[in-house]
Amino acid sequence: METLESFIAGTWVAGQGEGATLHNPTTEATLARASTAGIDFAAALDHARRIGGARLRAMTFSERGAMLRALSRAIHAGRDPLIAVAIANGGNTRGDAKFDIDGAAGTLAAYADLGESLGAARWIVDGDGIQLGRSPAFIGRHVLVPRAGVAVHVNAFNFPAWGLAEKAAVAWLAGMPVVSKPATSTGLVAARLVKLLLDSGALPEGALTFVAGPVGDLISHLGSQDVIAFTGSSDTGARIRAMPNVIANAVRLNIEADSLNAAVLGPDVDASSETYALFIKDVFRDMTQKAGQKCTAIRRILVPEAMRAQVRDDLAARLRDLVVGDPALDAVRMGPLATAQQLRDVRAGVERLAARARIVLGATEVALQGVEPGRGWFMGPVLLEVQKGEDAPDVHRHEVFGPVATVLGYDGTAGAAVAQVARGDGGLVSSVYSDDRAFTGEMLFGLAPLHGRLMLGSKKIAEHSTGPGTVLPQLVHGGPGRAGGGEELGGVRGLSLYLQRTAVQGARATLDALLDPGNTS
Ligand code: NAP
Repeated sequence: METLESFIAGTWVAGQGEGATLHNPTTEATLARASTAGIDFAAALDHARRIGGARLRAMTFSERGAMLRALSRAIHAGRDPLIAVAIANGGNTRGDAKFDIDGAAGTLAAYADLGESLGAARWIVDGDGIQLGRSPAFIGRHVLVPRAGVAVHVNAFNFPAWGLAEKAAVAWLAGMPVVSKPATSTGLVAARLVKLLLDSGALPEGALTFVAGPVGDLISHLGSQDVIAFTGSSDTGARIRAMPNVIANAVRLNIEADSLNAAVLGPDVDASSETYALFIKDVFRDMTQKAGQKCTAIRRILVPEAMRAQVRDDLAARLRDLVVGDPALDAVRMGPLATAQQLRDVRAGVERLAARARIVLGATEVALQGVEPGRGWFMGPVLLEVQKGEDAPDVHRHEVFGPVATVLGYDGTAGAAVAQVARGDGGLVSSVYSDDRAFTGEMLFGLAPLHGRLMLGSKKIAEHSTGPGTVLPQLVHGGPGRAGGGEELGGVRGLSLYLQRTAVQGARATLDALLDPGNTS
């Protein structure tokens, strides 16, 4: 059995003891083990801060951008073996695996372009000089410089490639060294990806540290110049937020957590329209892609009461035809859940929702293709429904992280739809499907305070839309409340997590000479 190693202070090391085991969720076979016991995280962080930080800060944005371009190309060149590992360790279909791996290469490439456009500078000047006294010679300016610590990235199990790369691309472009810790259960893809990145030769020494296995005491060594970017459950996020050293040192912390994303069908949309077809396509894709294990997946489907039966029946018909089974087979469209624990959690979650919502589809076992009977952590799609006037509070507060969603009837007014969505207490993304500009406007301004992103689906974009479930490097990702209160990506906006914004007062001539773009001294 393979032993996953961590990359610590420039050397591959295995932790002591048995550690955790990684499985193939289709066959339940054990693939690898990973332990971090005995690893000296304090020394690893020190090496990253001192060597990696210094080397990255010495590079200009365009040099860091060129580095990201080389890393993106390395992933692209190593794509096929990575896909095979994602199928084996993540239960991904080929399409799911490509979504994760191409997303990783694409995000690095997008930040490579951004680095190029930021040019030969090592800091960002924010705004013009502001005259501070009576003399124009005395001014203040703002400058954004890389923090002098390390960026620790803790990722969820569902996107081992994209999760690693989207965080690292932004931190590296900002000029900070990265310590990346994937979720242990699907860490094989991340381990292979890290090997590709290191083997490319594009990264300076100390720029990347990799932790394969449990987090141990890593977080407790972080200090005032360090940054944590966490993706995972709200519970783990809350635990990190409450750590004494995180509080005492004001460690900068970004949390990407749960979300009960909604899709709202407008009252103007009839079943023969392109907008309706887009709506059904997006909901179906989000329920089934990666077996619904996507933080951005649609969990609540709000439909005017008069359309509830139609939407329910159309979705159920599509879901009934879904081929579930061994994700290595071309005909299979949905693989297993990632772990045995995931399967237990999703089953328990469905039971919880079903206490107040009616199960439309998914009460019975699903027929599996290419799977040995009794093996694998499979779960067929589950559709539930709640009619207008009934209440199912758990639908609005419990995230079931699998191929599960609920159709909810509403009265067709924007006010009622916003009130229902608001019960989710903040989310990553919600979508509105309507060709009525007035309804869409009311929804936009009602939903915007509750979300990091909104997708407005209409017939005008039906052909072009990537759907709400795809996170794009140009747009911010994150959301208030339950979603963790964080914000990542969004082009240049994402860099600010890793940069210190400093106001500088002094002589205009001095500040202009020192800070102006192009001055890299
Ligand atoms: P999780 O159990 O919270 O684990 C997330 C990560 O935290 C893993 O790497 C885990 O390591 C690590 N971890 C566990 N205990 C920790 C601690 N005390 N201190 C620091 N790190 C710790 O979440 P998950 O099951 O992997 O992911 C599913 C959840 O993530 C869902 O709720 C989903 O909504 C959310 N998610 C959110 C986003 C987003 O962008 N907002 C994206 C994807 C997923 P081990 O694996 O070694 O335990």
